[in-house]
Amino acid sequence: MKKLSTNKIIIGILSLQGDFKEHSIALEKLNIQHINVRKKNDLDQIDGLIIPGGESTTIIKLLKRTKLFDLVQKKIFNGLPTWGTCAGAILLAKKVTNMDQQTLKILDIEIERNGYGRQANSFTEEVHIGTNKKTTFPGIFIRAPKIKKITKNISCVGMLSNKEIVAIEYKNIFATTFHPELTDDLSMHEYFIKKIVNKDLGSL
Ligand code: GLN
Repeated sequence: MKKLSTNKIIIGILSLQGDFKEHSIALEKLNIQHINVRKKNDLDQIDGLIIPGGESTTIIKLLKRTKLFDLVQKKIFNGLPTWGTCAGAILLAKKVTNMDQQTLKILDIEIERNGYGRQANSFTEEVHIGTNKKTTFPGIFIRAPKIKKITKNISCVGMLSNKEIVAIEYKNIFATTFHPELTDDLSMHEYFIKKIVNKDLGSL
């Protein structure tokens, strides 16, 4: 794989629609090199991919229009560490339960679009994270999808107080139904870089 630099990682942010800018600001604050992914060449330069929140149907449409759909899917299948937030989590799911919607079909989960209701039902709630769920993260849920079913090999890494699963991990795929990029808390971005992309932030 061709890389711009050998000693630094580069994160790609899928930037076709949605809040890719906010992810970029978060990575900027962490001093992580990143690029906007809009075409094939961009994909060849990255060590990890973020699929942002937005409108999943629109992102799918644009992935098709830009001919990136198959390429992105293949890259992820071939091991590109990837994080999907909100609409990004929908894109990674194998099945959307409440509508006939195409996805990248990466994660063996079933997800319900707008599972908590419309825009007016958006909410902020503490997410309990980590293996013991003792740490909390300010979860911002905007027309968020609801994870309805996960298979045994998928780990739950974030849940609400009512035990609803809102963050999952499978190998080097990470998905959150909330929006860490809309908070000042950089710990999820840091987690993605350190744990999922598997590089030590300290050496960057
Ligand atoms: N409801 C949106 C969708 O279905 C996701 C919302 C979001 O990303 N904040 O794609």
